[in-house]
Amino acid sequence: MDYNQYIEIVKDYPKEGISFKDITPLMNDGKAFKSAVDEIVEFAKEKKIDIVVGPEARGFIVGCPVSYALEVGFAPVRKEGKLPREVIKVDYGLEYGQNVLTIHKDAIKPGQRVLITDDLLATGGTIEATIKLVEQLGGIVVGCAFLVELGYLDGMEKLKDYDVLTLLSY
Ligand code: AMP
Repeated sequence: MDYNQYIEIVKDYPKEGISFKDITPLMNDGKAFKSAVDEIVEFAKEKKIDIVVGPEARGFIVGCPVSYALEVGFAPVRKEGKLPREVIKVDYGLEYGQNVLTIHKDAIKPGQRVLITDDLLATGGTIEATIKLVEQLGGIVVGCAFLVELGYLDGMEKLKDYDVLTLLSY
C-alpha cells in the first residue's frame, strides 16, 4: 500500500525549520493502519522475535499491535521518571532536543531476540539509544521497523548493521 496520502506534513512544528510528519491520519484509517501493522508483522515473522520494544509514545502505537499479532510481549522505553521500578538509562540527542531514555532492568532477558519499532526514523538518536538499552540488557536486536524514514537525515547510517524496514521514505 502507498501510505503517502495518510501522512500529513506540518511545516514548522514543533519549531521553525522542522517538517513534522504526522502519522495520526494513518492510525485513523483502519485499513491503512492494519496494512502497515501487517507489513511489519510479515517482516518480523521469520525472525523468531521474543519481544517487541518501542520508545514512547508513538513507538507504542506501532509496536503494541505488532507484538499482539506475533503473540509476544512488548517492553516500553520511556523518558526518565516515567517507569516505576528499577531502570537502566541512556542519554540521546533528538532532531529537536536532548533527552534521557530508560527501560526496566528486567524487561529483557539476556539472549532474547528483539524487534524495535517507532513511527519515524529521523536522526536515529532515539533508536540508537533504544538499541543501547536493549543490548545493555543482553537482548539481540534482530530488526527495526518504522512507518516513516526521513532519508535526508542520516538515521539509516546509524542502523547500517541492523535489518531495517521502513514503509515510507521522504
Ligand atoms: P530521531 O531520534 O531524530 O530519529 O527522532 C525520532 C523520534 O522523534 C521519533 O520517535 C519521532 O516520533 C520524532 N520525530 C523526529 N523528527 C520528526 C519529524 N520530522 N516528524 C515527526 N516526528 C519526528
